[in-house]
Amino acid sequence: MLTPPHQAASLPDFFYRPLTLPVATAPRLVALNTDLAQQLGLDVDWLHSAEGLAFLSRGLLPGRDDTSPGPVAMAYAGHQFGQFVPSLGDGRAALIADCQMEDGCLVELQIKGTGPTPFSRSGDGQNTLGPALREYLVSEAMHALGIPTTRALAVLTTGDMVDRSEGPVPGAQIVRVARSHVRVGSFQYAAAHGGLEHVRQLADFTIQRLFPDLAAEGPGRYLALLKTTIKQQAQLVARWMEVGFIHGVMNTDNCALSGETLDYGPCAFMDRFDPMKRFSFIDRDGRYAYGRQPALALWNLSRLAECLFPLFDDDEDRAIDQAQEALHDYDGLFHHHWLAGFRRKLGLETRDDHDIRLLEHVLETMHTGQADFTNTFRMMGSPEVAIDGDYSALRDLFPGNRGHFDLCRTEILHRLTLETRPPELRQKTMQGTNPRIIPRNHQVEAALSQAMTGDYRLFHKLHEALKTPFAEADDGLDAAPRPEEEVHHTFCGT
Ligand code: AMP
Ligand code: MG
Ligand code: MG
Repeated sequence: MLTPPHQAASLPDFFYRPLTLPVATAPRLVALNTDLAQQLGLDVDWLHSAEGLAFLSRGLLPGRDDTSPGPVAMAYAGHQFGQFVPSLGDGRAALIADCQMEDGCLVELQIKGTGPTPFSRSGDGQNTLGPALREYLVSEAMHALGIPTTRALAVLTTGDMVDRSEGPVPGAQIVRVARSHVRVGSFQYAAAHGGLEHVRQLADFTIQRLFPDLAAEGPGRYLALLKTTIKQQAQLVARWMEVGFIHGVMNTDNCALSGETLDYGPCAFMDRFDPMKRFSFIDRDGRYAYGRQPALALWNLSRLAECLFPLFDDDEDRAIDQAQEALHDYDGLFHHHWLAGFRRKLGLETRDDHDIRLLEHVLETMHTGQADFTNTFRMMGSPEVAIDGDYSALRDLFPGNRGHFDLCRTEILHRLTLETRPPELRQKTMQGTNPRIIPRNHQVEAALSQAMTGDYRLFHKLHEALKTPFAEADDGLDAAPRPEEEVHHTFCGT
């Protein structure tokens, strides 16, 4: 059931600006997530109607009276590539509704690509078709992989062209769904422009909205909020690492307290394994490279702790100690999830003290062997390898270093002697852990280029296939890019 965005508007005015969104020239629905619409309890025919389009494109809710809130742009700050920017905020986005999902979960709907807001700074407030479709595809793929994420409900073209460095491109909007859009940067905004009372208000709002159980902790609830966020981020980033996902802009304004992956700008999945892999055109120093993500999440969490710690204790030294202790736990939590996740990927049910070394060796061998991350793990769980013990096709996936592969295989086989599970069962579990397909960059780019010409066939094919990433199929979508197909850079699309 849709309601106006009451939750966000229950915050003091300091945290948001009300908006009246412009009527788009010719809004057209080009992608609608009917599964998600159903989970939201929204009628698909209604979403296609003029009323539905007015809702999706400018947040117009039928039956809304003048006293209930309309669309709102949220204020936030953020560290962008390590530099603090005190005022960012929704410069091209607005919350348009709250919605109680069929499963009882309360979520927010947001339009990205609203036109100018009070936070637009020098930007035009627009979103464009390529980035909107990319977010739709990748966020839905993440969801199907079982990774916490914002969801994509719809993409609309606006009927206007938008100026970008590559020339005029079709304007578009994405309507996305999140448990909450509160970010680390929201707390930084409260601390920078308000003060401790504003931080407290936002913390209490976040607890009530996302973690109501923490309220029982009384004065300890703020430390509990930090600890919960640390736990969730450790788990989230471990999940990213397991599927080779590179977020690309892990700025504090893109780090959600809900533990959902937020903001699919220049994100990408890696093909060949490389710990320093990055795609984002603007990330020249590799700050947000694959292997740096765990450390960057801790960096972001430290910025959150800086905002929250004065609420922990009246004694400043004690408060700082508590914050540091909580942050100190991050490494252990991350490694716990990472190890558990990669053990599952390798099909290991038992635990051995040397597993970290083994897994590091496997990854290092994939790196020097130039092996494709997804296909290697998938093939390790194929019946040929996992049941028949035939490693020849797997060996071919390591063209850069077959000798190292042979040594690594010996280590794996040795380790498998500790496993007690029947190989058939191990194989089956591995197929449910290691996806056959991910949204590979070259496929996503091909789908977006085709969509630019008005042809959405590839986009729909990819979206459909990515709903069941673990299922066997003969669609060719598991093929790694040929060298000439490889995409080296992604753009933010702003
Ligand atoms: P993002 O890179 O999308 O996470 O955005 C970072 C900040 O820049 C946020 O405050 C956005 O609202 C703002 N921003 C990005 N693109 C635009 C745009 N085209 N117009 C206005 N603001 C924008
Ligand atoms: Mg208010
Ligand atoms: Mg952002």
